[in-house]
Amino acid sequence: MSDLSAFSLAGKRVLVTGANTGIGQGIAASVARAGGAVIGVGRSAMDETAARIAKLGGSFEAVAADLADPAVAAAMLDRIWDESGPLDGLVNNAGIIRRADAVDLSEADWDDVIDINLKTVFRLCQNFARRVLAQPGRRGKIVNIASLLSFQGGIRVASYTASKHGVLGITRLLACEWAHRGINVNGIAPGYIETNNTEALRGDPDRSTAILGRIPAGRWGRPDDIGDAAVFLLAPASDYMHGAVVAVDGGWLAR
Ligand code: NAP
Repeated sequence: MSDLSAFSLAGKRVLVTGANTGIGQGIAASVARAGGAVIGVGRSAMDETAARIAKLGGSFEAVAADLADPAVAAAMLDRIWDESGPLDGLVNNAGIIRRADAVDLSEADWDDVIDINLKTVFRLCQNFARRVLAQPGRRGKIVNIASLLSFQGGIRVASYTASKHGVLGITRLLACEWAHRGINVNGIAPGYIETNNTEALRGDPDRSTAILGRIPAGRWGRPDDIGDAAVFLLAPASDYMHGAVVAVDGGWLAR
């Protein structure tokens, strides 16, 4: 497929978790720019995202849900499917990070991060696939937001690194199970992106200078950099991609 329609999301409905801010908002805006309808899911008001998408002339529906409980998250996806129609794409973006020396990391900081970043992601993939597979001929695309810490160890973020290595693993596993059944499962590993998640790093002059000095592109990433890669993984252009986790990191991992 070589014409531009291979990159269009016209007529597609895409659920994006954590769409109120940061990378999730960037993905929502990119999906809308590509012609897709966005269903944003999160626990905070999504007015800013709604306004951005309205300006683009796109379609946005906000659904309130706390994704800390994987069962609640899974039920939310079923409810959306039943009440507002089938989904073509699922972007698992919502995530949290807790920083502490590994010797001090609390059990709550382990469980909270694993629940949202990994268990909820798996449950949403599972329910999405159950719905797609129940309708013969239906296709679906899943994009999981991984991290550089799906490939590297990092420091002082033990539960986050464990969760993101897990996201890489289940992305590959689910791709192997579902590739021949019409579902593409892929991921994106963002580099250092300007969002709330990296506010502490950007506020620390030493860490911030060290990070910037190691990024070949010479700048921090922006949420829309990730959004545009997500559009590719949601669009027909990537139909033969399964189990790939694409680094969008200004060259960090290439170094
Ligand atoms: P962010 O600005 O902190 O956004 C995180 C999103 O997740 C927010 O929408 C947040 O909602 C949502 N969320 C967290 N806990 C939730 C819960 N219990 N229920 C519902 N929503 C919840 O961070 P970000 O940088 O955009 O991160 C997005 C994804 O990219 C995460 O998976 C993160 O691990 C990954 N990532 C980020 C970077 C980076 O450099 N920024 C690098 C690699 C990977 P609230 O606003 O309500 O908290």
